[in-house]
Amino acid sequence: MAKRVLIVGGVAGGASCAARLRRQAEDAEIVVFDRGPYVSFANCGLPYYVGNVIQDEKKLLVASAELFKTRFNIEVRTENDVMAIDRERREIEVKRLQTGEVYREKYDALVLSPGAAPIRPHLPGVDLPGIIALRTIPDSRDIRSWIEQREVERAVIIGGGYIGLEMAENLTARGISVTVVQRPDQLLRPLDPEMAVLVQEHLIKHGVSLHLSDVPISFEQSSSGSLVVKTKSGACLPADLVILSIGVRPEIKLAKEAGLTIGERGGIRVDDQMRTSDPNIWAVGDAIETRDFVTGEWVLVPLAGPANRQGRVAADSLCGQEALFRGVQGTAVCGLFGLTVATTGANEKTLRRLGITGYQKVYLHPSQHAAYYPGASPIHMKLLFSMDDGRILGAQALGQEGVEKRIDVIAMAIQSGASVFDLEEAELCYAPQFGTAKDPVNLAGMIASNVLREDVSLAEWEALPSTEALLVDVRQPEEFAAGHIEGAINLPLPELRNRLEELPRDREIWLNCGVGQRSYYASRILMQNGFAAKNLSGGFTTYRYFRARFGDTATAASSS
Ligand code: FAD
Repeated sequence: MAKRVLIVGGVAGGASCAARLRRQAEDAEIVVFDRGPYVSFANCGLPYYVGNVIQDEKKLLVASAELFKTRFNIEVRTENDVMAIDRERREIEVKRLQTGEVYREKYDALVLSPGAAPIRPHLPGVDLPGIIALRTIPDSRDIRSWIEQREVERAVIIGGGYIGLEMAENLTARGISVTVVQRPDQLLRPLDPEMAVLVQEHLIKHGVSLHLSDVPISFEQSSSGSLVVKTKSGACLPADLVILSIGVRPEIKLAKEAGLTIGERGGIRVDDQMRTSDPNIWAVGDAIETRDFVTGEWVLVPLAGPANRQGRVAADSLCGQEALFRGVQGTAVCGLFGLTVATTGANEKTLRRLGITGYQKVYLHPSQHAAYYPGASPIHMKLLFSMDDGRILGAQALGQEGVEKRIDVIAMAIQSGASVFDLEEAELCYAPQFGTAKDPVNLAGMIASNVLREDVSLAEWEALPSTEALLVDVRQPEEFAAGHIEGAINLPLPELRNRLEELPRDREIWLNCGVGQRSYYASRILMQNGFAAKNLSGGFTTYRYFRARFGDTATAASSS
């Protein structure tokens, strides 16, 4: 075991590594350096501190330097900036920020967990007061005091990812009118676009204005002192506060200058024990790139869970123990105005980008618990799986309740290399207020397994505008009248068996209903009677998202 371990960065990855290391090596000397005033603080809680959900700043401090000393015998040096690594001498150069003094420290092993820095676009006016990125406690304090001193009424958030949207919720909660400007044509890029439609509709319902497919081109200060965000589309958005949340860039300066290998995605390259190209240096967290568990490509995934796990792996590796980091799968969750959005694994955009074709997708909209128990509400799910062997590739879900529980189960299934047949068979807890006897996870597995067993064929939503198939809607007439796919005929499920002769045997038949269940029953009837029938997975509910996303390429006869 190395005698003297120095750790750069004392928050998620660094603190986790330090604490684990102490548990594994009582005799090691461990020193943690952080250029900020705190270690081990809850950066994930910062949007809620801005929104006043968390009112006491001290609650954000998970552990202090004193606690590290007394509980773990770890020395923490805050406001100490590590400036350089001398790999030959195994030394780091550190600047004590309060005094400006520069000193050197020797190491036997060095762990880098310097995180990532918010991206500030090089645009005119970006450094004007009131344009703030959120990364640290002092940043959140700045935003809070800016809101209070300037009586902020309008905010523009640049970037519609998790942090930007959490800020949208929290600023709205403070009575501030929020506009989100987002370069892609959808919010939350881990979602596929048709799933993101729900988030967009939900935010608009809660008063958030969206400028999708738009980017800021400059920031200006008006004569009254407030800000104006000018965008490429020609919009001039007045703002008293601008939040920059367009993403983060790995902090690789130290590593790069020390000659450590930097990977193709711009993060520090490590092996599956978190060891860099120098055998005496490990790196973890937002600063590194790692393998995507599903696709195998190198990725940057700035999330707290992986950073913490990598910290532990690095500590074990340092102690000579066998510990392997399995890769990341981007499992994430976000709460937005009562809507929970969660994802794990690959999305369809990624599969397409990588040229992976042998996959299938199913949509479903089951309730989070028994429909008869008060408060039932739908979970909108999309599951992607391999057509070869049923391996689960990814899942996305949105809804009011029970969303993260389902995605967590699927995340674990992905990590275990499980297939949709395993989801079908999974034994999950059930009582009416928590779930259904066939849990949404089971249902997703059942639908996908039915496809693989060729009990049912799925029609592709994207092919709807060009299909020659006969579209048959098997809902009741009143449901059909309230909104249906253009060109569809109505043949209610209860009448189907007696009206088979009305259907063509020389043409494909695409069936739909509200969520895909009745049309599945209809598919089985038709298939067993020799018809070429396919089911439109997710039914009219999924169709509505496709229509909202792709507009005139998928139009409904009337709105639902
Ligand atoms: P950090 O936790 O950022 O720690 C890096 C530390 O290194 C910093 O304190 C920095 O001061 C220090 N440092 C850097 N360079 C030096 C140097 N040269 N010398 C000394 N010190 C240095 N993730 C989730 O999974 N879920 C969430 O809900 C979530 N919400 C978030 C909300 C916000 C507002 C933010 C900012 C992040 C959120 N994250 C969330 C991401 C998560 O916080 C990060 O992925 C995680 O903290 C990364 O850990 P890390 O150790 O790599 O870096």
